[in-house]
Order: sequence, then C-alpha cells, then structure tokens
Amino acid sequence: MAGTDRGDLTRTAILALLGTVGPLSRTEIARELDLSPASVTQLTRELMGYGMLEELDLKPSRGGRPAQRLGLVGSAGRALGVKVTADHLVLVDVRLDGEVLGAWECAFDPSSPEALDRLADAVESVVSGTGHGLTARTSTSTGDGQVPPLLGIGVGVPGSVEDQAVGTVNAPTLGWQAMPVGERLRRRLKLPVLVENDVNALAAAERLYGRGRTHRDFLVLTIGRGVGAAIVADGRVYRGARGGAGEFGHVPVDPAGPVCGCGARGCLEAYVGSAGLLAAMRARSGTASEQVAREVFAEAGAVLGRAAAGLINVVDPEVVVVLGEGTADWPLWQAGFDPAVRAQLYPGRRDISIEVESWDDTSWAQGAAALVLATPFDAAGAAGEQGRLVRARLIGATP
Ligand SMILES: [Zn+2]
Repeated sequence: MAGTDRGDLTRTAILALLGTVGPLSRTEIARELDLSPASVTQLTRELMGYGMLEELDLKPSRGGRPAQRLGLVGSAGRALGVKVTADHLVLVDVRLDGEVLGAWECAFDPSSPEALDRLADAVESVVSGTGHGLTARTSTSTGDGQVPPLLGIGVGVPGSVEDQAVGTVNAPTLGWQAMPVGERLRRRLKLPVLVENDVNALAAAERLYGRGRTHRDFLVLTIGRGVGAAIVADGRVYRGARGGAGEFGHVPVDPAGPVCGCGARGCLEAYVGSAGLLAAMRARSGTASEQVAREVFAEAGAVLGRAAAGLINVVDPEVVVVLGEGTADWPLWQAGFDPAVRAQLYPGRRDISIEVESWDDTSWAQGAAALVLATPFDAAGAAGEQGRLVRARLIGATP
C-alpha cells in the first residue's frame, strides 16, 4: 500500500473521531466529517471488515428510527510502551482502547556501553512472551484469550527527541547525548518504534484517553523527580524546533538559587524536584518531621504555583492536568500552590480548572504506548514513516 490516498485519510479521520469522542452513529460521523452518507456507509463497512470498528448499541432517537452506533474495537491492536529512567525500565502492553494487558520492570544502567542492547533485550523479552530478565507487575488476560496484533513500540525518555520517528535522544539525566535509540531498536526488533520525551508522551495519552478527548488546548504539568510540562495546542503536542519544548523545570526562579542539573542557577526544578525538596527538609531540621515536611511542601507549592501561573498566562489553555509521582503528596503541595497560582493568573483566567489525576507507576509507560496507539489518529503525520508502518500493521497490509 503506497502513501495515503484520500480514502486512507478519511478512514484515519473516522478512527480519529471515534477514538477521541467515543461511539457515534453513521449520521453523526457524516455530519462531523462533512462526508456523504454513502461514503460513510462504504468506509465504515471496510473498517468493520478490518476488525477495527464494531456496531454497538442502538441509540434511541426521538421520532425517527433508533441509530446504530459504531465504536473502535479495543482488540484491533496493541502496543508496548517503555519508560526509561536513570535506574530502571518499566514496560507495559496496552490495547488500542487503553486496557493494560501486562506490566513489567527491570533494573537498567543507562551509562553502560550496552545500554541500548539491554533496552532491546527487555522489549524482546515481552514481545516473545518469555518475560526473561523481567519482573511482572500485573498481568491481566484479554478475556477472550485473543492477543491483538502488536502495532509497534513506544519509548518515553526524560530528555529531548528531535523527531519521534527517528528517535535520537539527548537526555542529561541519563548521560545520553545523540543516542540512536530509535534506530537501534528498529534494527533489532524489526518493528515500528517511536521515541518521545516522556511528558509529551503523557500528553499523547491524555489526547487519546483523558482530558484531550474534550479539550484541544491544554497543559500537562508533571511533578516528581523532575518537573516537566507538555503544551497541547489545537489538538497537537507543541514540540518546538528541536523537540525540546516544555522544559518547565528550567524556568528561572532565583538567580542566587542552587545550581540545577542543567548547569544553570535557581531553576524551578532545583526547588520543587524531589531532590530539591529533600535538601530543603535537611537544611531545615536535619530530620524530616511532619511539620517540617508540611512547611517545605507548602513553600515548594507556592514556587510551583507562581511558575505555573506564568505558563498558563503565556499559553492560555482550557484546562491544566497535573500528573507524576509527586501527585501522591498533592494535599501538601496544594496548601501553597492554590493561593499562589490564583493570585498570579491573568484576570479572566482565575477560574481555570487545574485537575490532579490518579497516577500509578505504569502511567509513564502507558504514555509511551499511546505514542504508537495514537498514530492511526494522526492524520497530520507527526509520526512520519513509522506511523505509516503502524497503520499498515493495523489494517493487516504487508508493511
Ligand atoms: Zn535547570
């Protein structure tokens, strides 16, 4: 199958629509995409033939006949997501509808000369089903026992990736400079591989399964070991000229502040990242008493709130989603965050919704899987040639 003809784009648009707004009737699809009822009937029949769409319940309609609704088939495909950290890997196997089929982890040393081989070994061990060298975290069955076709591998890294379909990584926290992650994994695994900044990958998951279904302009903020942001503008993750947009942790807070991991002084992350919080607690008391923890988190919350307000004022999102390991302590952050952010927001935006979502250890890796699972809905082609290969696998064509 060469390139994308008009029919291909329209099929992708139908998948994208159902993937982002949920089940719809054929009439609603025709109206939303400005297509004739005849072409919707033909294209949805083809997609049902590929096993990507299914007929759901009848939607009662006033007056006329009840309309049959169509939805995505979760078992049409799956993807593996990998989160790379400075000391371990987390891998998840996720279906197109977001259901997690299994999760694993293993120790990882990014500074080893064999780091990329070890990364490929871990992925291969999940793909082959051996689980060799991995610790299983959860394992759920597909119910019907059918394993959907594997569409590709998504890798999330704490760093910048110029082009997710090439996947060359710069990540100071891993000690990686121009690491050819995508190239090496593709060569070993013979599967489509997409590599992306981990916070941008979370934003892709939000587009598919979270707030992004109903909002086209939103911010994702992450707190934890590092501090990050992803900017989704008009439904797309804003990546910047070199894929480095959203380095929220390196917003300057105080020129006389502590030296940050990036080499500059007084960055936001040096105050509100987990290492900064720990240092503040030690400086305060030598022991981490509950009262000291409360004060330190509230002060960090205020610093984060002011910086977040600055970003919100610049970007003007509809909604802000807060994610990351640090959200487990959100009630402690909130005491300082809430008053600081509201005080600094531009008039007219003070009632913006800032939502803290539930988080678990596999969320980062699920974001990485969403990079692959989002490509059928990526009519704009951000995933490039790898996205084309994913789509070809989804519709069962020979790539
Ligand atoms: Zn910095």
